[in-house]
Amino acid sequence: MTQKTVKDYIRSIYDFPHEGIIFRDVTTLFADARGFRMAIDQLLTPYAGERIDKVVGLEARGFILGGAVAHQLSTGFVPIRKKGKLPGTVISEAYELEYGEAVMEIHDDSLQPGERVLIVDDLLATGGTAEAGIKLCRRLGAEVIGCAFVIDLPELGGGKRLAAMGMPVHILCEFE
Ligand code: IMP
Repeated sequence: MTQKTVKDYIRSIYDFPHEGIIFRDVTTLFADARGFRMAIDQLLTPYAGERIDKVVGLEARGFILGGAVAHQLSTGFVPIRKKGKLPGTVISEAYELEYGEAVMEIHDDSLQPGERVLIVDDLLATGGTAEAGIKLCRRLGAEVIGCAFVIDLPELGGGKRLAAMGMPVHILCEFE
């Protein structure tokens, strides 16, 4: 029997949150001890030997992954959240959605100039969320050394969008 891959642990839910959408659900990956450890180990693989000062996670599943990655690296963890959720002084970055816009925020004292950060999230689609996250980190003077995702949906163009920003992207699996 061949060993299960990270992709094998991800569940697909049809017509969520809207008809015609296939939601890639990582809760089944997180719930499995072997799957979760495999995902964290693989997210870290390209960064062995690199200096990373902080891990930044994108709300909400990026908190679960990013927290585990930060623990493994013995770094601090910094959340980037949707507008209005962080209690301290924040800076904000708006980005376009299919309908309307969204705003992501970071505490303005959470990263120091020159700190090397790794951004972590579960899924890369259009890249709008990650681009906003990169911009927030850069505005605080941090150097984003890479973005790591469990899933890429390459047809939605996020990989190309981040490449155009000079951002190295690491992904564990793809779905059409
Ligand atoms: P983007 O900004 O278009 O790249 O969308 C990525 C964001 O939307 C990430 O924060 C994901 O958590 C979330 N997202 C979009 N589609 C899915 C999905 O099918 N499964 C899990 N998260 C998703």
